[in-house]
Amino acid sequence: MSYISWFQEHGKKHKAIIDKLLSRGYSKEQIIDYFDFDAMVVNEPDFCPLYAENKKCHDMQSLNCYLCSCPNFRFDDEGVDIIEEKKRYSFCSIDSKDGRVGVYGEKIHQDCSKCTVPHHRAYVEKHFDLEWFKIMKACPCGD
Ligand code: SF4
Repeated sequence: MSYISWFQEHGKKHKAIIDKLLSRGYSKEQIIDYFDFDAMVVNEPDFCPLYAENKKCHDMQSLNCYLCSCPNFRFDDEGVDIIEEKKRYSFCSIDSKDGRVGVYGEKIHQDCSKCTVPHHRAYVEKHFDLEWFKIMKACPCGD
């Protein structure tokens, strides 16, 4: 699946959940609580493929799924840049110390597997908006 396909599909799923929670009168705090991994596995099994295995994407005790993937992720399915003759398809805009530049043959992709930045509740509270697409608007780098 391309980055942009995932991005569009995930944003739609996120919006459907938000619409449901707003119709129930949920507050910001209740919405963030709802997106806690342990609750999402039970209540929204289709939101993430890892839920089927009850598996977290990162090894952390309290993991919040509201800002998956991450507002700092930048991608372009056509390739963002050329670095040392390799094409870069994604990168981290804040150059997180826990992120990694993954080189896969001629392709470079951002590797976020060791970075937990967007999954902390405090980070979600700080960057919260009901519109996931608004929070993530800088992620697609293509035209
Ligand atoms: S490395 Fe961390 S901060 Fe950077 S895009 Fe990945 S998850 Fe986000």
